Amino acid sequence: MSVKAKKHLGQHFLKDENIARKIADTLSYKNYNHVLEIGPGMGVLTKYLLEKDITTHVIEIDTESVDYLKANYLNLADRIIEQDFLKYNLKDIFNDEPFAIIGNFPYNISSQIVFKLLEIRQQVPEFSGMFQKEVAMRICSKEGSKAYGILSVLTQAFYNANYLFTVPPSVFNPPPKVDSGVLLLKRKDNYTLPCDEKLFFKVVKTGFQQRRKTLRNSLKTLNLSDNLKANVIFDKRPEQLSVLEFIELTLLIEND
Ligand code: SAH
Repeated sequence: MSVKAKKHLGQHFLKDENIARKIADTLSYKNYNHVLEIGPGMGVLTKYLLEKDITTHVIEIDTESVDYLKANYLNLADRIIEQDFLKYNLKDIFNDEPFAIIGNFPYNISSQIVFKLLEIRQQVPEFSGMFQKEVAMRICSKEGSKAYGILSVLTQAFYNANYLFTVPPSVFNPPPKVDSGVLLLKRKDNYTLPCDEKLFFKVVKTGFQQRRKTLRNSLKTLNLSDNLKANVIFDKRPEQLSVLEFIELTLLIEND
């Protein structure tokens, strides 16, 4: 018996054991005692996590997959959370303890997974796994590149991001239409910002809504003073600003 792939849940099951093992090996397993796998499906990655010196938890929305895991991974039984990762309050199992996150993620909710990670970053020192290649590259890309955007700036404000390797469609069942990419995020030592964090998120999101325009134009809705807007930083386009410059820009706006 195996799980029938459901499109609306983004189910593409990995067939390649070597790649599963390689993904499991991306985390350091240091300085935390728990790892949470999002979307384990039939457990191809889970079984390599269970070999590590760590307590493995999984969160899976699909009842059929949960039944499969319960039947095939007996030692995982009471650490299977049958819930939607995006909605579940992880404090219910981890309290305030740190944990790593890993997965061959459901691609239909990639950005939302990253935004939730940023919300719970206090508890998540490491995050690794597979997205569609384009999203993984976007998260890791630097200023000046085409892929650089909201996901890159917000993630890299708190995490060092590394694109690790590309995975072709042929190793999945059913194969997705696009290449996949594995990345690793390691939280920075200092993951609080020296500026107002809410305002930082707003500045980044508003700035990139019109990525071809100068910040003077794209940040019009923030009602900044003429004096502040005379600053040369507003001559730039959002894709030219590094994470540090976005922080500086937020500080300028804060003190306007
Ligand atoms: N890790 C498995 C399955 C990957 S497919 C493998 O590599 O083979 C993505 C998995 O995420 C599916 O099992 C799907 O049911 C699950 N999933 C989709 N949306 C989810 C959500 N919101 N919360 C938790 N799991 C989810």
